[in-house]
Amino acid sequence: MNQHTSPDLIPIAALKGAGPQTLKRLERLGLASVLDLLLHLPFRYEDRTRVEPLGALQPGLSYQVEGRIELAEVSAKGKRSLVVRIADGTGFLNLRFFHFSPGQHALFSRGRALRCYGEVRAGYYGVEMTHPDYEILGEDEIGQPDASLTPVYPSTDGLHQKTLRKLIEQALLHAVPEQLPDWLPAVTARRRPKLAEALRLIHQPPTGCDPSSPQLTAARARLAFDELLAHHLSLSRFRAQTQAHAAPALRADPATSARFLASLPFHLTGAQRRVIGEIEADLARPRPMMRLVQGDVGSGKTVVAACAALAALASGYQVAVMAPTELLADQHQRSFRQWLEPLEVRLAYLAGKLKSGERRTALEAVALGTAGVVIGTHALFQEQVAFQRLGLVVIDEQHRFGVHQRLALREKGSRDGGYPHQLIMTATPIPRTLAMLGYADLDLSIIDERPPGRTPVKTAAVPTTRRADIVGRIGDWVAKGRQVYWVCTLIEESEVLQCEAAEKTAELLAAALPDLRVGLVHGRQKPADKEAAMQTFKDGQTDLLVATTVIEVGVDVPNASLMIIENPERLGLAQLHQLRGRVGRGPGEAHCVLLYQPPLSPSAKERLGILRDSDDGFVIAEKDLALRGPGELLGTRQTGQVQFKVADLGRDGSVLDEVHAVADTLLQRHPEWVEPLIRRWMGQEVARYVEA
Ligand code: ADP
Ligand code: MG
Repeated sequence: MNQHTSPDLIPIAALKGAGPQTLKRLERLGLASVLDLLLHLPFRYEDRTRVEPLGALQPGLSYQVEGRIELAEVSAKGKRSLVVRIADGTGFLNLRFFHFSPGQHALFSRGRALRCYGEVRAGYYGVEMTHPDYEILGEDEIGQPDASLTPVYPSTDGLHQKTLRKLIEQALLHAVPEQLPDWLPAVTARRRPKLAEALRLIHQPPTGCDPSSPQLTAARARLAFDELLAHHLSLSRFRAQTQAHAAPALRADPATSARFLASLPFHLTGAQRRVIGEIEADLARPRPMMRLVQGDVGSGKTVVAACAALAALASGYQVAVMAPTELLADQHQRSFRQWLEPLEVRLAYLAGKLKSGERRTALEAVALGTAGVVIGTHALFQEQVAFQRLGLVVIDEQHRFGVHQRLALREKGSRDGGYPHQLIMTATPIPRTLAMLGYADLDLSIIDERPPGRTPVKTAAVPTTRRADIVGRIGDWVAKGRQVYWVCTLIEESEVLQCEAAEKTAELLAAALPDLRVGLVHGRQKPADKEAAMQTFKDGQTDLLVATTVIEVGVDVPNASLMIIENPERLGLAQLHQLRGRVGRGPGEAHCVLLYQPPLSPSAKERLGILRDSDDGFVIAEKDLALRGPGELLGTRQTGQVQFKVADLGRDGSVLDEVHAVADTLLQRHPEWVEPLIRRWMGQEVARYVEA
């Protein structure tokens, strides 16, 4: 291997012991170059620096042991297995193999020395290890354990730790010190281990080093810093590049806007007015706006979007409004129609359920520009929808879409080297650390005030043993003319089970409350049935709506003021808060009952307690982040959004301010480092995005 080639240019195939099978498996882990290998970091260590006397083993712990083989025989008791007994003078240990070959059996001949690593369990005949890592020792190897901690790497089927270790060892030997420049300003670098040094430490901790030693902690923190820096740089560069494009300068017509505001049955809150001001200032500039509006559920984001739309319309441009579900798109359509048609604005609606004739008419209106506002689901961007003059894109509830989808959307809206303005709205309050990270390419506006006249939702956690009481309360509530949601939740992955549970619950509740009109909404209904059920509830023609978590986003039924959530302990705080936001949208008191399955784990108890005590989405989101980790909060698992190799926001969030400062320094003084740094940590794909 050439020592002067940058490790991102050296394929793993250049290393010894990397056959085609291994390469394929490595690729499954996203590892193609020697650099990828170097940045493939252990997620834990095994301590194989000690050999534990067999007499001292405690069940439940992992040890490295050595001993001589006393016997090896196939046991037919229970499941057939090969049992190998070793002894070292202080005691003995049984090794048990359920899968073994005749060759293996022959290898374990009496008197040979063996070294094993594994977890000890209490077996029928004394302590035992099942399928330990083992090696036969030469006489000169006895009593000579590893000098340092053994790294354990994330792996995949058929790829052995030993293979990974050997390859990474070679990579370290050949590539690191000469070819991995630090790319950090001197002041920042001085307080941290050098990159090459940090990588070495992490892959090969020195003798006597334990996993929580300051050395290893500093090395890991150094890598996390670099990774966060690369992530931030990629977004800020993307932002800078977008800002270099042109966009139409859009100005609202004050008379029309005033007419619009006067037509509303309410006054805007101060926060809404402030955010509209921020948006209008952005739109008036000939650079594409990229603004994220965050506002808790019910804070009134839709009307803010309508004001932005008016500015585009007044300047002769079209507006696209995209919602994550048909239900929500339809709700927006109704609001916008009611608000804007009196101002002679024509709307088009594009969603999956349209008949082909309706669709054609809508597409035509969009293409000819007779439709000023186009509302729809993401079908708006997936299909060949041609806009006559698109000036503004509004994306609602954007947490449903990942960073990459968001960036892709932006590209789709581009034209003649210019971009439309983008307004993104989310009810998911994003903790500061995450906002700083995932949205570094967006400006942030926060609607931190609720429309007046709303009392906070009173929340109580009640065990299912009191289910009958709760069912009784529903009857009382409906007698007062109010409506009720009953939300069935199960394990999120199984939509089928969740829907079945909802159907069953609806039947049971209908039987228990024969005077009530009971509706049902779940994700496996035909869209038309779902809409119909939702619409009947909105129109007040059903009293109780049994639903799965599909009602999570944005649905507005002010008269619904009691919500029962089953199995709340299985949901994240942020999602529970979203659900709860469906009630408390009208005047009068609103309640939420968290009907949990006792006994609650301590952490579930803590989470439900937070929800009971706070109605502030930001407070809840911060706590959710602390309790659950960032991935789940942003739905990373589903969308592959912010996935870090090393960084952990709970642990490393505190360096973000420094990351930002260093990013600025690099952009100003060392712009030549930016691109390679992004490439080093985020790979080719993202680097391509950044160049787009
Ligand atoms: P979200 O921020 O969750 O999207 P919406 O835009 O759906 O909230 O607004 C929730 C409800 O509050 C709607 O019925 C809307 O018309 C109403 N609303 C919005 N702004 C105000 C206000 N300033 N005063 C009273 N009601 C308002
Ligand atoms: Mg909304």
